[in-house]
Amino acid sequence: MEKQRSYEKLIERYAETARTAGAQITDIGKIQSDIGEYTLYRMHLRCGEGKQRLCISTGMHGDEPAGPESLLKIIARLGELRDSLNADFLFFPCDNPSGYELNTRENWQGLDLNREFVQEKQAAEIAIVENDLRGRAFDFTLDLHEDVDTYGMYLYERARKGYRSVADSMIAELRARDYPIHEADWIEGLPASGGIIWPSGRLRKCALPKAVFLWQNGSPHLVTTESPGKLELSTRVEMQMICFDVVLKRLLAEEFAAAPVPSAADR
Ligand SMILES: [Zn+2]
Repeated sequence: MEKQRSYEKLIERYAETARTAGAQITDIGKIQSDIGEYTLYRMHLRCGEGKQRLCISTGMHGDEPAGPESLLKIIARLGELRDSLNADFLFFPCDNPSGYELNTRENWQGLDLNREFVQEKQAAEIAIVENDLRGRAFDFTLDLHEDVDTYGMYLYERARKGYRSVADSMIAELRARDYPIHEADWIEGLPASGGIIWPSGRLRKCALPKAVFLWQNGSPHLVTTESPGKLELSTRVEMQMICFDVVLKRLLAEEFAAAPVPSAADR
């Protein structure tokens, strides 16, 4: 398999963006693979007292480049607004470095890393990420993904009772600017409406996606964005940024801090 992108260059761009934004970039572990050694990173940005705790992740699937490209812009934007925000951010810039270089959904071993949380024999990348996340909970988590087969955007949202939808506003903003929405009634085997999937029902106990792992560790509100891989990369980044702007507006209003405390029965 041939490398199509450079992870090292991506991380250089993240490091540069982090410097400008005032964020710290931390080495959280190394993996060995047939195509080289990779270092995984996590970034941290604290604004004000850090009242609203957010986790923003991307690069879990290597053939979804609009995620890492958008996260670079997100960190730069948050850096500009640092003095107006009261929030604490953890960013995971690329959880699947080998897939990113090979332009494959899976890692170099052919594993879908977003099914590797809470697994006995676990992919090395996810062992590192899971270990870093253990014991942390967030008021809101955002996962940037893409669907390589679609022409319209869709979102997953999961929120505990009493939380105001973020996905609704993201779709409304995209529609207002005439970006296409994936309108199917079923997406990835789940019922959907107006470009939003609200997963419900029993959750698996193992082989989890990152978002579900965070949910089970106490994060009350998750959104996963899926930009349409059939469109131009620049358009997909624009769509991701429109979704992020909704989050930003709520952050500036400190809405994530005002979220209801979930009751034990609600978990
Ligand atoms: Zn994905």
